[in-house]
Amino acid sequence: MLDRSPIRAAEARCIDLCVHELFAGHALATPDRVAVTCDGTDVTYGELDARAGRLAGRLHATGVRRDEAVGVLLERSVDFVVAVLGILKAGGCYVPLDPGYPAARLTAMIEVAGARTLLAHGPLDGYDGTVLDVEDRPGPAAPAAHVHPDDVAYLMFTSGSTGVPKGVAVRHAGIVRLVDDPDYVHLGPDEVIAQLSTVSFDASTFEMWGALANGGRLVIAPPGALSPAELAGLLHRERVTTAWLTAGLFNVMVDECLNGLLGLRQLLTGGDVMSPQRARRFLQQAPDCRLINGYGPTEVTTFTTCHTVTLADTTRPRIPIGRPISGTRVEILDDRYRPVPVGVPGFLYAGGPGVSRGYLGDPALTAERFIPDPWAYGQRLYATGDLATYRPDGAIEFLGRADHQFKKRGFRVEPAEIEDVLRRDPLVKDAAVTLAGSGTDDATLIACVVPAGTDADLVTGLRLRLREHLPEHLMPDRFVTVGALPLTPNGKVDRTALTALATGTTTPSGTPTGPHTGTEAALAEIWSELLTQAGVTRDDDFFDLGGQSLQAARMVSRIRTRFGVALTVRTVFDNPTVAELAHRIDHAPRMSDHPGLSVA
Ligand code: ADP
Repeated sequence: MLDRSPIRAAEARCIDLCVHELFAGHALATPDRVAVTCDGTDVTYGELDARAGRLAGRLHATGVRRDEAVGVLLERSVDFVVAVLGILKAGGCYVPLDPGYPAARLTAMIEVAGARTLLAHGPLDGYDGTVLDVEDRPGPAAPAAHVHPDDVAYLMFTSGSTGVPKGVAVRHAGIVRLVDDPDYVHLGPDEVIAQLSTVSFDASTFEMWGALANGGRLVIAPPGALSPAELAGLLHRERVTTAWLTAGLFNVMVDECLNGLLGLRQLLTGGDVMSPQRARRFLQQAPDCRLINGYGPTEVTTFTTCHTVTLADTTRPRIPIGRPISGTRVEILDDRYRPVPVGVPGFLYAGGPGVSRGYLGDPALTAERFIPDPWAYGQRLYATGDLATYRPDGAIEFLGRADHQFKKRGFRVEPAEIEDVLRRDPLVKDAAVTLAGSGTDDATLIACVVPAGTDADLVTGLRLRLREHLPEHLMPDRFVTVGALPLTPNGKVDRTALTALATGTTTPSGTPTGPHTGTEAALAEIWSELLTQAGVTRDDDFFDLGGQSLQAARMVSRIRTRFGVALTVRTVFDNPTVAELAHRIDHAPRMSDHPGLSVA
């Protein structure tokens, strides 16, 4: 019989505060303590609270009221934190929007959210609501809004299988149970937590509130992807004690810049399967750091289960995802909702105050995924779609997905969403999307397209048109044109056959020209290693060859070792061909000439 004590833990958990009220408590008690460090500037709890109060006053004046969604179209920054606190103080809920997303996707998200007001540095194409800046202006603070822990604190979007991103409505109670007196990590005024995640990814919930609800210091990384050396430099310079990395970025850091992680007291990784080999290397070098495998869908507020990894764990093929965090319940059930015995795979369901309110504007999908809890009257369980099993010691192991959803660089990808955008293209008759190299850092998203005409340049045009609708992580890395999609005997797309069909085929990249200079040759060699592809030419585009931002981060690290040049990941995006990047390397200052540039 399984131990059902977690039910009692969730029931005993009485949450009567909202997350911004936890912050306000610290602002009252220790106003001079540094709350946020960004770009070398410190902002105290008192200053942050006062700025947020004045912004709440302006929001209140524009009519923002309890439970109303307000968009925040800002990169991670002090302004972003002020915006979030101001919205919550005014009684609203925030909708973090990544300014790097295409305008069409942003407006679709704002429409789902029903946000009449947007906090942004400027206008957004296609949005006709009120746009407010976050400039600090003198003015009265908002009157205290009556907010309840069951109210929605934020809306976060994940890939949706119907072609529209799903807006998950996360409650204050979910965040409070994540960061207030947690049992899976230490949080408190002595912790310095890095904000590395983009604002629209739910790791930022842990980072931001883990610091600010506990009197800790939040160190905000500059916007955009950081190279391993830049990340190491930030952690070291700001004496960061706790950081959260996606499983993919953790692998890159362990492989390329392990020293950069050695100052941490706690390192959480998650979003995807943790590599036992990397965990082992890390723990051997950093025996005093607590390494935590964090598991959880956005729908249950960031973490559902966590596991502190030991060296013994790393000798097994799978690192457990552990046990439910306090205030959270997990059930592993069979297809008739019966708990499975130890060692038998089942579907993972999650319950407790972390369970969000559901998908905004989609009651049918909400009812399908958030089912009545058979063991806790009046509460719901979220059907994660993940397969899992109990180990004999009670820890849970993640076994994979029960559906077609997959992870790429820690981002959730519903192939149906990308297929929907592809099929809407006038030059596409049919399309299906598959992932090659699933479960590895180099997982590649492949779009198999049946053309509607005979356009020889279909892929180039398609790539451009897709960029208007899809964010970077949903963009296919490769396109393969096929006469027809392979089907199973009952008429569904045969995804196994599709992956086999797609693997190994690349988009033509023009007349190949070999490298002209020594730098180009050395760079082409690095690309060949990273992309496991021979014959890279000087005009090849890193991203057309299937390169992604994590591999770009690895490349920057190898360029640093090989040439002594510190490039940023952005440079790779701006100079994506061998010839362009080699030119940048040849004209960049060598680190040996400028010791200050050496940050690792
Ligand atoms: P996250 O912020 O954890 O990435 P998402 O909602 O984007 O949240 O994705 C949740 C899904 O990611 C889970 O349902 C599971 O399939 C996968 N996942 C999350 N964490 C882990 C982990 N530690 N190990 C394996 N898979 C994970």
